[in-house]
Amino acid sequence: MLVTWHRSLHLDTMNSHPQLFLDSRQARNFDGRHPWVLQRSVVEPTVSPETGEIVELLQPNGSWIGRGIYNAHSRIRIRLYQWIREQVLDADWLAQQLEAALRLRETWMSSRGKLDAVRLVNSEGDGLSGLIVDKFGDYLTVQLTAFAMYNWRSEILQWLEKRLQPAAIHVSMDARIAKQEGLEAFDEWVAGMPPSGAVTISENGVRLSLDLQAGQKTGYYLDQRANRQAAAAWIRQGRMLDVCCYHGGFSLAACASNGPTDVVAVDSSEPALQIARHNAASNGFSQIQFQQADCFDILQQFSNRGERFDSIVLDPPRMASRRQQLNSALRAYHRLNLSALQILNADGTLVTCSCSGSVTRDDLWGVLSSAAKRSRRRVQILEARGADVDHPVDVNCPESDYLKCFICRVE
Ligand code: SAH
Repeated sequence: MLVTWHRSLHLDTMNSHPQLFLDSRQARNFDGRHPWVLQRSVVEPTVSPETGEIVELLQPNGSWIGRGIYNAHSRIRIRLYQWIREQVLDADWLAQQLEAALRLRETWMSSRGKLDAVRLVNSEGDGLSGLIVDKFGDYLTVQLTAFAMYNWRSEILQWLEKRLQPAAIHVSMDARIAKQEGLEAFDEWVAGMPPSGAVTISENGVRLSLDLQAGQKTGYYLDQRANRQAAAAWIRQGRMLDVCCYHGGFSLAACASNGPTDVVAVDSSEPALQIARHNAASNGFSQIQFQQADCFDILQQFSNRGERFDSIVLDPPRMASRRQQLNSALRAYHRLNLSALQILNADGTLVTCSCSGSVTRDDLWGVLSSAAKRSRRRVQILEARGADVDHPVDVNCPESDYLKCFICRVE
């Protein structure tokens, strides 16, 4: 059965769309094809386009920049999708973009081997700002993060269903994003029968049960797949602390490679920990103790009690979603990293991550550098990593390089 939705986008074939001009004071250089045009960057026209309408973006001098979708509710006023004037923003273009994204993963997996779980569409990184598609076994999860993609949901779901024949598709928009985009949050299963329970996948030789509906984001953090394996190679022995462990990814990968003898894995979410406990048991890893706690509090408690670890993973949630929150985010990262360094044994391994799009690699490097100075520890970066290959990064959209992961040795 093909998905049917009530509303379908009126797909224009005539390129006669409202024109919006960049504000000359705010105008950034859009030659770089950054897909986000912020509210302050455009001159608001006397008659505003409708939310969801295709618009043309022009330089203050009238030269054409690109074509995208307007949203009167969002701070990202226009999401640009085309930079070639002759193109048409329609269902065929959408299908081509989706096909290109899929081909990339097929090429990658043809050399690496087929994976149970893979990101098929990575928003800006695949030229489809606002669309994330993950595959978990026979199921797909679609996360919509922009009105433009919400408007195209019918076309997207039909294309995915026809091309991939999934058992079912879970489609959602979370409350925070829905509010920003002027929509209502939703999540539902379409195009088939939802799974009757957890979905099981295998990653780096570890069996994982996932709850695709109640889980965070699209159900599981696929972006850290290669980092878990890389970290496991350095975490060879002793006592490990896994901070913000979610389903236990880093701990399980480390235990699978004969690493730590004793692991404390912490997260604030009890539902996530329940799945993590199940995953540890089903893989036979009895050395992991899971604990519900706030990451800042638990590090402080370990420090007060004089507890020490041989390796520590810090994988906190996003702390800044925009540049204005950067300073408070950097202070929080500094606190976490400093606390970790204070309870890490000599010759220890620190794996420190940031998934905040507005925190750059240099920012995280700076945090680590000042935490090292403050704790009087020598920190060697062994590997500076990002999200796994199925999460491509757009060179002109630094925010798409959102995941930073430094694997370090601490003297
Ligand atoms: N390391 C995980 C991914 C972590 S995502 C993996 O490999 O899959 C970030 C995690 O931080 C989420 O599981 C979230 O529940 C948790 N979290 C959010 N706020 C927290 C807090 N204040 N203290 C501890 N955990 C927190």
